[in-house]
Amino acid sequence: MTVATATDIRPILAELGIEAENPGAFNGSWIETGGELLHSVDPNTGEPIAAVRQATAEDYEKVIAASVEAFDEWRTWPAPKRGEVVRLLADELRKHKDALGKLVTLEMGKIVSEGLGEVQEMIDMADLAVGMSRQLYGLSMHSERPQHRMYEQWHPLGTVGIITAFNFPVAVWAWNSTVAAVCGDSMVWKPSSQTPLTAVAVTKIAERVLEATGAPPVFNLAIGDRHAVGGPLVADHRAPLISATGSTSMGRKIGTVVAERLGRSLLELGGNNGIIVTDDADLDLVLRAAVFASVGTAGQRCTTLRRLFLQKGIAAEMTERLRQAFGSVRIGDPMDPGTLMGPLVNRKAVDDMMNALEVAKCQGGEVLYGGNELDRPGFFVEPTLVKAKVHMPITCEETFAPILYLFEFDELDEAIEMHNSVPQGLSSAIFTLNMRSAERFLATTGSDCGIANVNIGTSGAEIGGAFGGEKETGGGREAGSDSWKLYMRRQTCTLNWGEELPLAQGVEFDL
Ligand code: NAD
Repeated sequence: MTVATATDIRPILAELGIEAENPGAFNGSWIETGGELLHSVDPNTGEPIAAVRQATAEDYEKVIAASVEAFDEWRTWPAPKRGEVVRLLADELRKHKDALGKLVTLEMGKIVSEGLGEVQEMIDMADLAVGMSRQLYGLSMHSERPQHRMYEQWHPLGTVGIITAFNFPVAVWAWNSTVAAVCGDSMVWKPSSQTPLTAVAVTKIAERVLEATGAPPVFNLAIGDRHAVGGPLVADHRAPLISATGSTSMGRKIGTVVAERLGRSLLELGGNNGIIVTDDADLDLVLRAAVFASVGTAGQRCTTLRRLFLQKGIAAEMTERLRQAFGSVRIGDPMDPGTLMGPLVNRKAVDDMMNALEVAKCQGGEVLYGGNELDRPGFFVEPTLVKAKVHMPITCEETFAPILYLFEFDELDEAIEMHNSVPQGLSSAIFTLNMRSAERFLATTGSDCGIANVNIGTSGAEIGGAFGGEKETGGGREAGSDSWKLYMRRQTCTLNWGEELPLAQGVEFDL
């Protein structure tokens, strides 16, 4: 284990325009916010980096009002011109990738390679959205009435409320904002209170793009608690779409409020992801994929591998290889390029993990490796392997920490049933070299998740596909494919260019 390196963070903060104390709201200008100071803490040391003065309810009002006004103009910009603004956003992100990636690491604790990867994901999303800006296609249909034309078109929706989780503090904003922007929407971003600095830094980058292009303020920010910002935004009828990423309990509350006002919600919630390994699998691949998926980001990805189902013929060998691999994971300062696992985000996350392990033991689980907090500053734990029994209730919950539960099975059908028996439905995988097993897993009666992979781990999805999950994961889809449709309103148009007025379904109504 390494000790904290004395990274000089001043050049990173200076490049991104972060001060000791930053205003927490932007609506085209930075607002002198009047809320309490929110300190951003480096999980590697437990020490504050800088602070943000949070938005009050009055500050939030200034942000949403400006966003609604910006929408009025923005929706009239041709979509490819909006795409040009997003292209410049990608350019700015490229310029500041290194500093922003490191700020993600400082504030959230993921290793620097993953911090940089997260900014790369923003850039990739922006590039994808630029292409989308010329492909917001509607269908045309054949009308049953002569001399009629019927088609559908997609219009901008309005202001989108974007609520993000701490674990992808900047990429999730980009999943939403780049697509929303080319679709003609303005937005208000409420980031996690764990990661306010990265939100300020990203908004400063976006601010420069708005200034350079003369675009209205579509990328807005309000940092604050759920009383001043989160609650009002979710309940606000001026935000026709709320895109919220976070825990299932958060989604349940937000989804209810948005449904009550008949708004649209896009929910990206918790996962409890599994991999099934059959006797014929390539175990070298399994080892690499399972360790990255369970230990990467210190187990704090929505797609983190939490349950591994091993067929009996390879279970003993695979368990031993995993035990050794977990023991060799280099834990330490996430800024150190040699580190593979950084800290958890805060003290509560450490306590939640330790509590979950106590519960697991009471329910019959056996800790095979790890299980301890590290005795050093910051919020460090050991990656932990637990031999689990079927129907252990704790394995149906998402504990946001590096705990991997191991199960054994005889037949593939049994493994698929165990795999699908949890309330969440985000990401899943099978490792097999047997075509029938792979297809069985991908069939209608196979994995019930939004993502199903073969010989690839559960985490690290590409942005070209629609991302999201079923059941208590919330059903939302973001990023690629046709997920842009959620950010627009569909209009079906029928045009009569003839001299008659025939009615559909052959109805006669002659005056
Ligand atoms: P969280 O639920 O604690 O918070 C997420 C966001 O919701 C934060 O910005 C928070 O302030 C806000 N929030 C919470 N309650 C709210 C309320 N009542 N009204 C308005 N806003 C509210 O989640 P977290 O700890 O930041 O992130 C971890 C969780 O996010 C995990 O469950 C993880 O699986 C999930 N996640 C899911 C995805 C996905 O795409 N499915 C991606 C990343 C993270």
